[in-house]
Amino acid sequence: MHELSIAESVVRVATCHARGRPVAKVAVKAGHLRQIVPSALEFAFELVAVGTELEGAELEIEDVPAAGICRACGIESELDGFPLSCRSCGGLDIEVTRGEELLVDSLEIEEEPVLTTRGA
Ligand SMILES: [Zn+2]
Repeated sequence: MHELSIAESVVRVATCHARGRPVAKVAVKAGHLRQIVPSALEFAFELVAVGTELEGAELEIEDVPAAGICRACGIESELDGFPLSCRSCGGLDIEVTRGEELLVDSLEIEEEPVLTTRGA
């Protein structure tokens, strides 16, 4: 259940940036190699967010495709899954360049209701 610890770090980072303002949406970039189950992460996020600025916020998970450079031939391949292999020569000695990240990409802060004295 590594989604729970991921949710905890997402909430920690996001509340730090929110500085007490209610958050409507959190966008997270999750590398493909993290093998996150989005529904499990959403569930964990809802639990962890209770009582914070993120309670009720929407969680948007963007899957970042994995890529790596082959140490044998230098060609960069998109990596769909395990085992990681070079698309060009089939080599398995791959330096992963993308797909292991996990970061909070953006926060959408809820707008303060704007009160006007005009009209009505
Ligand atoms: Zn290769």
